Amino acid sequence: MNQAIEKLVLASGNAGKLKELSRLLEPLHIQVAVQSDFNVDPVDETGLTFVENAILKAREASRASGLPALGDDSGLAVDALKGRPGIFSSRFASDQADDEANNALLLEKLQGLPSNRRGAAFHCCLVLLRHPEDPAPLIATGRWEGRILESPRGEGGFGYDPLFYDETRGVGAAELALTEKNRISHRGQALQKLIEKLENG
Ligand code: IMP
Repeated sequence: MNQAIEKLVLASGNAGKLKELSRLLEPLHIQVAVQSDFNVDPVDETGLTFVENAILKAREASRASGLPALGDDSGLAVDALKGRPGIFSSRFASDQADDEANNALLLEKLQGLPSNRRGAAFHCCLVLLRHPEDPAPLIATGRWEGRILESPRGEGGFGYDPLFYDETRGVGAAELALTEKNRISHRGQALQKLIEKLENG
């Protein structure tokens, strides 16, 4: 993959995502810039799907930086909430909400539901635009299934991680080391698929 892309910009201002994506990209020996290095205008996330919003973010970062850009749009879809908060995950409690407020609202909405009705999945869509007008972006998605806990667990991760439990592995997302989370998460899965697409031309 490195033949074509030597440097890219990560189209996100979310510290948790930047940490995970930077670590995931390390083995590829691509120089990674972050969009805060450039004058990237905040993007109105007007899409109705993860893929639409990931394209909007990547396009703006690529335009402002003159570099290829990797956009990430991701979120949590809760079965009992018909897929919400979904694309609104970062702004579930309000437009300016922080992780704590979002997590508190999620617990409130699911209050009293037994564990078999607390199913949820993290989704991630990654979009790589080689330049702002790239008509054929590389797109890859990942999905991580689990359920929502009744109280926070673990100290790691970001966002909804303290409330997300991977039943298959018997571990909370916030209890995983970064390397381990990256190996199994929605973002890790999406990046692996994206790399395969890049390698296969
Ligand atoms: P975005 O920046 O608009 O894509 O919002 C993504 C939001 O989804 C984050 O702010 C988190 O609330 C949530 N999210 C996405 N990925 C993760 C994750 O790996 N762990 C926990 N929360 C996540």
